[in-house]
Amino acid sequence: LGRRINSAVQDLTRSNLVDEKAFDGMIKEIGNALVEADVNVKLVANLRKSIRQTVNFKELGQGVNKKRIIQKAVFDELCRLVDSHSEPYKPKKGKTNVIMFVGLQGSGKTTTCTKLARWYNARGFKACLVCADTFRAGAFDQLKQNATKAKVPYYGSYTETDPVKVAKAGVDKFKKERFEIIIVDTSGRHRQETELFAEMVQIQEAVRPDQTIMVLDASIGQQAEAQSKAFKESADFGAIVITKTDGNAAGGGAISAVAATKTPIVFIGTGEHILDMEKFEPQRYISKLLGMGDMQGLVEHVQSLKLDQKDTMKHIAEGLFTVRDLRDQLNNIMKMGPLSKMAGMIPGLSNLMGDVGDEEGSMKLKRMMYIMDSMTTKELDSDGKVFVQQPERMTRIARGSGTSVREVEDVLTQHKMMAQMAKKMKGGMKAMQQGGMGR
Ligand code: GDP
Ligand code: MG
Repeated sequence: LGRRINSAVQDLTRSNLVDEKAFDGMIKEIGNALVEADVNVKLVANLRKSIRQTVNFKELGQGVNKKRIIQKAVFDELCRLVDSHSEPYKPKKGKTNVIMFVGLQGSGKTTTCTKLARWYNARGFKACLVCADTFRAGAFDQLKQNATKAKVPYYGSYTETDPVKVAKAGVDKFKKERFEIIIVDTSGRHRQETELFAEMVQIQEAVRPDQTIMVLDASIGQQAEAQSKAFKESADFGAIVITKTDGNAAGGGAISAVAATKTPIVFIGTGEHILDMEKFEPQRYISKLLGMGDMQGLVEHVQSLKLDQKDTMKHIAEGLFTVRDLRDQLNNIMKMGPLSKMAGMIPGLSNLMGDVGDEEGSMKLKRMMYIMDSMTTKELDSDGKVFVQQPERMTRIARGSGTSVREVEDVLTQHKMMAQMAKKMKGGMKAMQQGGMGR
């Protein structure tokens, strides 16, 4: 998609006849690319209209960078669409927060439930899981397995067939035990069926969730609008999680879901592993959708600072990104400051650091450096897989660096994310170095 939009813009700016007709043609081409990426057809029509309004082609004088202006207009407009302007529920410590999941079968509910329980556990909440999926054989076993792996307490039943009863019993039990986050996993169906919706409403009435989260598979495509609307009408939800964003799906469906339901996306699933979940960041998501990547801005900034990072550039051009590359980059960043600005440019780093001030942020960065300083040469020059093969390495590093295993995990998550981006950037980066893309 990104390539198509870029080339549409490029055609325009390269052509000698930069007239309004060429501009219209370009907007049409961008629109087609977006529809192909599963952005809702009506939304795209509106987007085309508002780009025409924001970019007044006739008034763009000579010498302005038309390409940048148009790209930015598309980007801003998409970011606006994916921002619901409503706040998701924030669980409170020391209180019971019940979170219920809904969604079609196979969308990733059970996986995401476990990821979310771990996420809260790692942030000091006492979290647990309740399996209210009595529809699918093996559902409880799956949740049990996931929960055990994530070291999260769980509740379910092999004999009770009424999901409402199981949900109620589980939530009541954990409430008594003063759990702070009780996550209720429900069953799905392959299609939206009245039966499923009735069941969801009954469970909602029985456990009175503080938040209901709808899980949507990124590959849902143009059906996203209808599906999210149908769920919203019966089992009203206050947040959306988009799963499988690591797959081949273009991900435009997510935009339609937000636009149709005015509900915020809170997390995205980025893989099957329990750590593969990220806080949703509109700008980052749209960058990825457009194939722009915040990385580009970072790379340009770093290039302008003339810091030593030949190896990293070479690696990225090859689609490679080692743990050592991460260390070099962070090292550079610590030299460059102000931290808050830099962190925002590295995909996911702001997410990892949370809303902390520069001082606390620097401390966190320092701890990340201690962690990487405790690694062996082999580990530093690896693609990170050695830690999956031998997780005991993380314990050693945590001990050696005076940090926690969780912090080591966070560093590796950060690395993995950047390595994935590097892989995707392989082609684009080469073009950029040759001056093809970018400014
Ligand atoms: P449920 O039926 O809604 O509970 O869906 P599951 O949680 O059982 O997930 C269905 C399949 O999708 C499983 O094979 C999961 O491993 C996979 N899955 C879930 N989330 C993700 C994700 O973010 N990325 C990838 N690649 N796979 C996922
Ligand atoms: Mg399930």
